[in-house]
Amino acid sequence: MPDKDRFLNEENPFEAMMSRFDRAAQLLDLEPGLYKVLRHPEKQVIVSVPVMMDNGEVEVYTGYRVLYNTSRGPAKGGIRFDMQVNLDEVQALAAWMTWKCAVVNLPFGGAKGGVICDPLKMSAGELERLTRRYTAAIIHTLGPDSDVPAPDVNTNERVMAWIMDTYSMHVRHTVTAVVTGKPVEMGGSLGRREATGRGCMIVTKEALKHLGMKVKGTTIAVQGFGNVGSVAADLLAKEGCVIRGISDRTGAYWNARGIDIPAALKYVKEHKTLEGFKGGDPISNEELLTGDVDVLLPAALENVITSKNAAKIRARIICEGANGPTTAGADSILAEKEIFVIPDILANAGGVTVSYFEWVQDRGGYFWSEESVNDRLNDIMTRSFGDVLKLSTQHKVDMRTAAYMLAISRVATVHRLRGIYA
Ligand code: NAD
Repeated sequence: MPDKDRFLNEENPFEAMMSRFDRAAQLLDLEPGLYKVLRHPEKQVIVSVPVMMDNGEVEVYTGYRVLYNTSRGPAKGGIRFDMQVNLDEVQALAAWMTWKCAVVNLPFGGAKGGVICDPLKMSAGELERLTRRYTAAIIHTLGPDSDVPAPDVNTNERVMAWIMDTYSMHVRHTVTAVVTGKPVEMGGSLGRREATGRGCMIVTKEALKHLGMKVKGTTIAVQGFGNVGSVAADLLAKEGCVIRGISDRTGAYWNARGIDIPAALKYVKEHKTLEGFKGGDPISNEELLTGDVDVLLPAALENVITSKNAAKIRARIICEGANGPTTAGADSILAEKEIFVIPDILANAGGVTVSYFEWVQDRGGYFWSEESVNDRLNDIMTRSFGDVLKLSTQHKVDMRTAAYMLAISRVATVHRLRGIYA
């Protein structure tokens, strides 16, 4: 295939995901029938969502919920409210969730949902009505045993509380385990907010150990200073790492001797963004990605490491805090440079792991201490990193391919045991 065509669709999330799926499926020598089953989403729901707007007029929004695979357990995956939501993307993200849950061996399948809307232009009342009507429209898929949503782009604890309440009203009793990412006061888990960043810290330390590098003094650049990036930067700094660069949507900052992360966190708390932060020299986001560091931790957007800039990356390790920060076209360039990539489906699985803990605690009606949550998260992330590394060494493949192989083989094994019912 000419290079032009190879990279033509490198930013299409479904194709990016499927190209990696195909490579892993080929290496696993997956039987043709099962290959076909795993390449298709199990169920796709498209709903029209009428909402009474504040001006008294009715608007109709389009919503989706895709259950990609539920062979290992209830479908798990976030709901996003965004103008860019489309079925291709929701399908890809639902498949992604299937592999992510399987990599860390959670008893969940994968799902994703979304509504095409601009939540920043809606009032709190409009958002609440949209959330409740969307929940009512997809209620036949939802349930603690069938489909358990979570927050995603532009949805949060408050939206999860509305989903939980709407579902509970319909089934006539309170069901906390129908969503995760809820406020702690109504069945949320301690440690959930920090879980993804904490998971990134854990696997970064494991990668350093594997490569014979010391944690103390390791230099790091973090793209994105939100939930994932700021927590990962803070925890890694506490482990003795030197965070040379940080960034958010307003700009990037560099300090070769190390940015004072507590000061940056305080600055963002007061000013909402890093704009005007004086703890480092302003640089471009591209300079941040290609700066002189041991570890690069993208924790903002998709498709930031591409075939165009991959050759310029100097880090020895990339820890993918964000979903899909590396395009399929960049994979081979990073492999040639022997950059050790901790793939997204492993690196950022800390969030869904503590979501699983939340679901377990809700179902048991017994809540754990934060220390217990963090210890269990540490066990799962460390074990999963080891599982993927072992496969990568055995098959002489990169960590991403190994993570997909592990995930697909776990889902495939359950399908074989259950039978396909074709
Ligand atoms: P967030 O909204 O809290 O933070 C995103 C950060 O990225 C913000 O600091 C924002 O300013 C920054 N950003 C946006 N555009 C940027 C740009 N062009 N250049 C540099 N920075 C930019 O989001 P989050 O929850 O931290 O999620 C970040 C990524 O991690 C996303 O890809 C998300 O899908 C993924 N992820 C999040 C979780 C979770 O539990 N929050 C779990 C798994 C994966």
